[in-house]
Amino acid sequence: MKRLLILLIFLFIAVLKGDCFELIMPTERKNVTTNDYAFFYGKAKSAEDLTINGHSIYVAPNGAFAHTVKLQEGENRIMIKTLYGLLLYKFYKTIPEKLDIPTEDFQNAKAYVNKDNTPLRSTPVDAGLNRISHLFGGTHLIVNGSKGPFYRVVLSKDKEAWIAKKDVTLTDEGFYPADFINMNSERFKNAMIQTISFSKKLPYTIEDCEKEIIFRVYNPELSDESIYNLNIPKPAKYAYTVTLDEGQYTFKVRKLPENLKETTVVIDAGHGGSEKGAVGCLGDEEKNINLKIASLVADYLKRQDLNVIMTREIDADVSLEDRVKIAKENDADIFVSIHLNSIGDVPMDVHKKRGTSVFYFNNSSKKLAESIERHVTHQAGTRDDGVQTASFAVIRPTEYNAVLVEAAYMTNPMDTMLYTNDKWIQKASKGISEGILQYLKK
Ligand SMILES: [Zn+2]
Repeated sequence: MKRLLILLIFLFIAVLKGDCFELIMPTERKNVTTNDYAFFYGKAKSAEDLTINGHSIYVAPNGAFAHTVKLQEGENRIMIKTLYGLLLYKFYKTIPEKLDIPTEDFQNAKAYVNKDNTPLRSTPVDAGLNRISHLFGGTHLIVNGSKGPFYRVVLSKDKEAWIAKKDVTLTDEGFYPADFINMNSERFKNAMIQTISFSKKLPYTIEDCEKEIIFRVYNPELSDESIYNLNIPKPAKYAYTVTLDEGQYTFKVRKLPENLKETTVVIDAGHGGSEKGAVGCLGDEEKNINLKIASLVADYLKRQDLNVIMTREIDADVSLEDRVKIAKENDADIFVSIHLNSIGDVPMDVHKKRGTSVFYFNNSSKKLAESIERHVTHQAGTRDDGVQTASFAVIRPTEYNAVLVEAAYMTNPMDTMLYTNDKWIQKASKGISEGILQYLKK
């Protein structure tokens, strides 16, 4: 009898623990925020009558739920009613002061770029899709204005750009234009190369137009109309590079290989190690699901005879720089980063935000993104959340086609039913793989 009682108590504790209400976010009872919304998500008992500030909340069959509450300025009290009692959360919303920093104009001054891969931007903001090109260290610039942490760069009569002050050094050197030395163009079976040389390093831009790619070098110290245009017609599937060696710029546009055996694909499982990525309603960590999908994609593609490299095969930290380095050092043709999405602090309707989206940065990767989006939504039955552009470090390189897949939303209760199911993981992996293969075969 005593034994039975102990067993019953153990069972009771086990049931209570397993089914207990668990909030993933917010983690604190008292919060100070500038966000417009408070985001609540976690796991409840599946049949639970859960309310937040009196609103009845949808709970998925596996217990996942999510809800956002619009915040007023000042104190907001949010009451969660669960089977286990009442929980009170406080959010104090402050409105951030908007500083309108004026643009200051000044006389033309000389500056040079401190290091390679420095972004030149179309607006004085360190965010979004405003990168025009990445300049080499030592590039000579003329600056004639300033706004906050940026200098305004003169490229030509009609073209200005912005560069972070920390990325350049102002100099008293006198003005002297770069001398044009020579220009050359060569055609190979799978690539076209144009070169142009100057006596000093100059700023450039790249425009990926409908039929061609235009590489423009500016020599504003000579005149504000001094621009050198190199145009290369682009093949259907292409990638390109700009390199600089002893004053010679080499602009190369190449065709992706037509043969699968000659194609190198880098599969990147997002996050890993101490970087968990998003945490889902049920408490699952994104890094683990990314790795499961990435491993299946890699296996699938290897069976099709492609040369496949993974940026990580275990639960380990890999920096964004190293992920890019692995792709470049292995002469990748395709780079696919695999992730799961979350709405984070962004004010969105948590129930509408579900499904698959594929991101690209360069136009050269758009068709690959579209192909993967089409195949994943078809194979895995996820909602089409669209092909979108974003400036993520791993998809910015132009040396290969690069996309980032967000297979489903970890913060959407309906999507949690998908990614926690191994069959769905297999279908999503097949969708990604077929999206890559179809793109290459076309
Ligand atoms: Zn992620």
